Amino acid sequence: TYQPVREYHVVVLGAGGVGKSCLTAQFVHNEWIESYDPTIEDSYRTQVTVDGRQVVLEILDTAGTDQFVAMRDLFLKSGQGFLLVFSIASRSSFDELATLREEILRIKDDDTVPIVMVGNKADLEDQRAVDRARAFGVSRSWNAPYYESSARTRTNVDEVFIDLCRQLCRREDKL
Ligand code: GDP
Ligand code: MG
Repeated sequence: TYQPVREYHVVVLGAGGVGKSCLTAQFVHNEWIESYDPTIEDSYRTQVTVDGRQVVLEILDTAGTDQFVAMRDLFLKSGQGFLLVFSIASRSSFDELATLREEILRIKDDDTVPIVMVGNKADLEDQRAVDRARAFGVSRSWNAPYYESSARTRTNVDEVFIDLCRQLCRREDKL
């Protein structure tokens, strides 16, 4: 039977410097680039296969420039799934996620929005500032899966995007 190609809008959110651009580039282009302009916000289209189904992801790599509040509301509204990224080496980046999540829930007026929590820079274990069990606990209370990733070593990069994509597919299947 013919299945139209699905398309989902995914938004990558998190504090500056946690590795949003590196994660996105690893996923979309399979490349590690040491440094990106932290102010650049861009979107990427990529096709993936999830459980035998072709899905196009439109990924917005945000740059958290707060001066455009209206635009921020707009992309939160148009986003269907969200990666909430922090760095395991930065406690403040972890604390910021709660606010981001509240913003998403407020704008979307829906507490079942697909979200994946990502503790990036897992290769920096010796600089860990966020306890794994604690992060896991928070993710569970949000009903979101938790992964520790490394854009540098390309660990769990595909997994976080695919998990989100799978959540989006299941949600649509249920509608
Ligand atoms: P963004 O502001 O969230 O988009 O962060 P970037 O993707 O620009 O990355 C910020 C800095 O963190 C850069 O210097 C990257 O090289 C570094 N970085 C990103 N991901 C990782 C990672 O998984 N491990 C390590 N060690 N460094 C990373
Ligand atoms: Mg960036």
